[in-house]
Amino acid sequence: MSLYLYNTKTRSKEEFKPLNEKTVTMYCCGPTVYSYAHIGNLRTYIFEDLIANTLRLAGYNVKHVMNVTDVGHLTDDGDNGEDKMMIASKREQKSVMEIARHYEDTFFRHTSELGLKRPTIVCRATEHIDDMIHFVQDLENKGFAYFSNGNVYFDTKKFPKYGCLSGQCRDDLKHGARTQQDTNKRNPSDFVLWFTSSKFENQILQWDSPWGKGYPGWHIECSAMSMKYLGERIDIHCGGIDHIPVHHENEIAQSEARLGHDWVNYWIHMEFLNTKSGKMSKSTGGTTTIDTLKELGYQPMHYKYFTLTSHYRSSAVFSEQAMDGAKKAYENLCDCVAELKASVKGKELLSDEKTELDNLTAEFNAYLFDDIKTPLALSHMWGVIKDNQKSDSVRLAYLMHVDTVFNLQLKNVEAKKIQSVEITPEIADLLEQRKEARTNKNWAKSDEIRDMLAKLGVGVKDLPNKEIELIKL
Ligand code: AMP
Ligand code: ZN
Repeated sequence: MSLYLYNTKTRSKEEFKPLNEKTVTMYCCGPTVYSYAHIGNLRTYIFEDLIANTLRLAGYNVKHVMNVTDVGHLTDDGDNGEDKMMIASKREQKSVMEIARHYEDTFFRHTSELGLKRPTIVCRATEHIDDMIHFVQDLENKGFAYFSNGNVYFDTKKFPKYGCLSGQCRDDLKHGARTQQDTNKRNPSDFVLWFTSSKFENQILQWDSPWGKGYPGWHIECSAMSMKYLGERIDIHCGGIDHIPVHHENEIAQSEARLGHDWVNYWIHMEFLNTKSGKMSKSTGGTTTIDTLKELGYQPMHYKYFTLTSHYRSSAVFSEQAMDGAKKAYENLCDCVAELKASVKGKELLSDEKTELDNLTAEFNAYLFDDIKTPLALSHMWGVIKDNQKSDSVRLAYLMHVDTVFNLQLKNVEAKKIQSVEITPEIADLLEQRKEARTNKNWAKSDEIRDMLAKLGVGVKDLPNKEIELIKL
């Protein structure tokens, strides 16, 4: 079955055609580790993980690379403001490296609690400074970079495609309006590749370079590390929608200028998680993390379930009411799995059950292969769970398939402990009457007796060959 993904580059849903038929290469912009990732950031990472799982479902291996920004990100994407790591270091009276490692560790604890697979390669900016310096040298040699008053800049006028991803090709007025003017730049949309100490004299992390002691601009790290680990052309590059107009434009400009050809085939962007009062943002502080959710009584899986209820290209609004709904739905799901596990007890699927399972999983997969439609996939899942015509074995096997993609940790749910039922003469009599009613196809009477048994605390489950299982309610 073909897989379709929405490509920001062409503004259309396209059939996914990988560069290599076995392994897909995927780069995702990772966290800036100066504070905790909020649940909005995590919505983006949950969907990136889901894209990787969907690619695996489609039969590919996935080489997934994610960077960790531990140097170089100023408070403004457009090279203005202060260094985010320095601000955190002052605020918390810790070294910049202590800050970086603490927030990086917490980030991966949270992603693991959400059941996200660790990317194949996680790379820190501070450990790739030489790669960035070589990159900038190449750009300088090719005439795309210039040195001005202590900094090295990318000359966007030399790259005619600049701005095309966000649909503002060579519209310098808009780029100029977005950021405060830096008089060292030749064009308002130019951006810094390398800062020397002229920017912040007290910058703690600095490295020797051909342009003087300094540190890299933020954008260069993603291009340098993705090229190092994934090569000169990659299949997929992801990030939140806020990255389209500056960060990803700059990544494209510097990478394609260095390579002399196209770089990324599919650009995939995630819409925002908002609060009722607007965008959830790390830089404005006061944001919700996985640990805050736990304090409010929600588990990471409740949040993951909540994210799956909206499509990644639609924004979602976070509220405790919405989380209550997700928590309840997730708990119901786990209850159903526990009951199914108790009932199935490792029974093998019959051959027609196998066929039925294949059809159901193909239907579920089709929703994901159509641009990762998680809300439709979830509603298919509930349809299967509630369909009593399907055997417990089929429903359980289907849910285990769902879990290979969503990883809602259904595999870890324990089978419900079934207590034995004491059969009193009254219960025995009702069971006999029910058997007779069913032999006579008197379904109304059979249901009536089922309700009477339920009032006595006994559940009845009909098994193949007219056998029954009694469950203590
Ligand atoms: P940052 O650590 O700020 O660079 O952000 C990490 C990732 O989260 C990036 O891909 C951002 O585009 C994304 N992001 C930032 N804010 C939100 C939000 N409110 N909802 C969803 N994704 C976001
Ligand atoms: Zn990036």
